[in-house]
Amino acid sequence: MGRRGGRPRRGPLTAALELELRGAGGEPVDLWRTIQSHGLVDLPPMRIDDDARALEVTLPLRGAPATVRVREGRPAWAAVDGAPEAGAAEVSRLVAHVLRLDELGRDQSRFEHEIDSLTRKEQDEQTRMFDGSIVNAKELEALEHEIASVKKRRSDREDEVLAVLEIVERLEADAAAAERESIRLRAEAEEAAHSAAAELATVEADLARRTDERAAIALEIEPEVLELYESLRRQKKGIGAAALVDGVCQACHEHLSAVELDRIKRADGIRRCEHCRRILVV
Ligand SMILES: [Zn+2]
Repeated sequence: MGRRGGRPRRGPLTAALELELRGAGGEPVDLWRTIQSHGLVDLPPMRIDDDARALEVTLPLRGAPATVRVREGRPAWAAVDGAPEAGAAEVSRLVAHVLRLDELGRDQSRFEHEIDSLTRKEQDEQTRMFDGSIVNAKELEALEHEIASVKKRRSDREDEVLAVLEIVERLEADAAAAERESIRLRAEAEEAAHSAAAELATVEADLARRTDERAAIALEIEPEVLELYESLRRQKKGIGAAALVDGVCQACHEHLSAVELDRIKRADGIRRCEHCRRILVV
């Protein structure tokens, strides 16, 4: 009997799984900054290791959940330790998703780049305004307009980042809940497999005991009765004998006639049902 479920089998691990740190738009992504960003929660199935600047995450792989460690690798690459060899592609996809090297991550990263450059531009123009290099009043006024416009654009971008972060946080919360649920269900399935195996073992033991009991009883029965019984059992859907209760055969549920009942009462030897011909136990 093969038991399904049980401990997940641990296959060989990949020597070195690497993940290029680029967003869907090809922009570079900073691993440690992403790990520390708002969307990633330091809750199971994720753990942030500040000392090692690494992220441990339990991934819901199809074979069995696996805990991998994502750390900085060679420049522009993340190294992923602990990925099962058979699930390397799936691990890459899930880790990329966790690090949000996808649509939302890209948007956030792009907006943050834009805010950085707008902030620099604003600072440069503030400097120009006060370093005495501009003396013309009109030019000064134009510069003030430019600064106001840059401020407005930066504020808009910041609003967009906030909106994206809200979506990311909601999706992360959904994903964390789904992953917890998946881990709970796996545990439940494993538990069910265990109890099914235990139940089968009990039934098998019971069957063995009853087979022995039957063999012991068969020894005490006259050979011709046993032979008739076995032959009827083969012909009649596994039932060779039945009790007679209140004049009714318990196998075919037919009433025996008064004459037959009277005859059975007085007869010696094997009694049989007049309808189904099974042996009657009176
Ligand atoms: Zn009968």
